[in-house]
Amino acid sequence: MTYDYLIVGGGIVGISTAWQLLQRYPNLKILLLEKESHFAGHQTGHNSGVIHAGVYYQPGSLKADFCRRGNEATIKFCLEHDIPYEQCGKLLVATDKAEYSLMEKLFERAGQNRITAEWLNREQLKEREPNISGLGAFFVGRTGIVDYRKVTDTMAGLFKARGGRVRLDCEVLGLVEKDSEIHVRTSIEEFKTRYLIACSGLMADRLVKMLGVQPDFQIIPFRGEYFRLPPDKSNIINHLIYPIPDPEMPFLGVHLTRMIDGTVTVGPNAVLGFKREGYKKTDVSFRDLKEMAAFSGFWKVMQHNLKAGFFEFKNSIFKRGYLERVRKYCPQVKLSDLTPYPAGVRAQAVAKDGTLIHDFLFVNTKRTFHVCNAPSPAATSAIPIGAHIIDRVGEIFG
Ligand SMILES: Cc1cc2nc3c(=O)[nH]c(=O)nc-3n(C[C@H](O)[C@H](O)[C@H](O)COP(=O)(O)OP(=O)(O)OC[C@H]3O[C@@H](n4cnc5c(N)ncnc54)[C@H](O)[C@@H]3O)c2cc1C
Repeated sequence: MTYDYLIVGGGIVGISTAWQLLQRYPNLKILLLEKESHFAGHQTGHNSGVIHAGVYYQPGSLKADFCRRGNEATIKFCLEHDIPYEQCGKLLVATDKAEYSLMEKLFERAGQNRITAEWLNREQLKEREPNISGLGAFFVGRTGIVDYRKVTDTMAGLFKARGGRVRLDCEVLGLVEKDSEIHVRTSIEEFKTRYLIACSGLMADRLVKMLGVQPDFQIIPFRGEYFRLPPDKSNIINHLIYPIPDPEMPFLGVHLTRMIDGTVTVGPNAVLGFKREGYKKTDVSFRDLKEMAAFSGFWKVMQHNLKAGFFEFKNSIFKRGYLERVRKYCPQVKLSDLTPYPAGVRAQAVAKDGTLIHDFLFVNTKRTFHVCNAPSPAATSAIPIGAHIIDRVGEIFG
């Protein structure tokens, strides 16, 4: 049989799109393919679990708009489906003069993005968070925490309950786009579909290449390593604690996060990965390395960010360097407090000129639509992203 839509990727973006597509058009025959044996096996299941408010992002960007709406939509979804979440709020803390002036700019940006934030001086910060030190901070109450695996599984259940079909352990290996349909070769069998939506995260560029199209970006993996604090330190913070990030980088810096199960994590950093789906420091893929080395954008990004890259790499190897980043705002944390916790890998799209692409990036052909960059906070924003994809494919495919 020929499906109306085939969706590649059982992360939160693919599942949210599949569920909402069937909700909007109940008569469509939709098939979702995921290469792992469960949903949320990559970025969605290896993240900080934060429901972001949308402070950081360029006003007017898709990221800013999706995040603000995604925050509300995620909380509403959790309430409707009994998924545990907590709106615990977060503090962005400045520890020196340079960070203080960046914080002032960020506070302004929060206002431009219509996010309510409260300015705290040094004493007010101490009152709110006795274990945190800084020159000042600002508080964002809308920020929350949730387990995105649970959110994804619930959306998948809704999709299946409406008649959506799912094949797990089914990797897409080849795509042939014909005039009226697409032939999808997989590790199990071949499927036919009228339209295809690819939400394949760390493999986004490879799905584009399968069509014989040469994308002008490439996915570069950045591992985000975490530590866990011991249970006796789980009350060290009342809110999530974030440093003031480097505005040039799409990463938020090492933060203290209370997960929904009560664990407090430290992290993530952002270290260049030698394997797209490699979660350990020692994971290496020669195919991935070869592709990176052949991509001019990779060398440019390395050249532009040599110092930052070296700093991340050093702190990944020497725990003491990592510790110093946290101790800047939380001096109570000791080296022995940093116990292992699973890492995540970010799918960062990099343009040929070496630009780290900050916003969402979509590419389409006559019958396919590809989500090529869905960076953080795409878990928070998954519901509006899914709705946006459906609107776009409606326009493009008629
Ligand atoms: C360390 C880290 C921390 C983060 N923290 C947060 C946070 O706190 N809050 C937030 O909002 N966001 C956060 N993010 C970002 C967020 O997790 C991602 O943006 C989001 O999960 C992306 O979802 P996705 O569905 O696009 O990708 P993924 O979750 O990676 O899903 C893609 C899926 O496609 C499948 N796939 C790929 N190729 C194929 C193929 N050929 N055939 C079949 N299936 C295929 C993969 O197996 C995978 O399951 C974080 C990310 C990381 C890595």
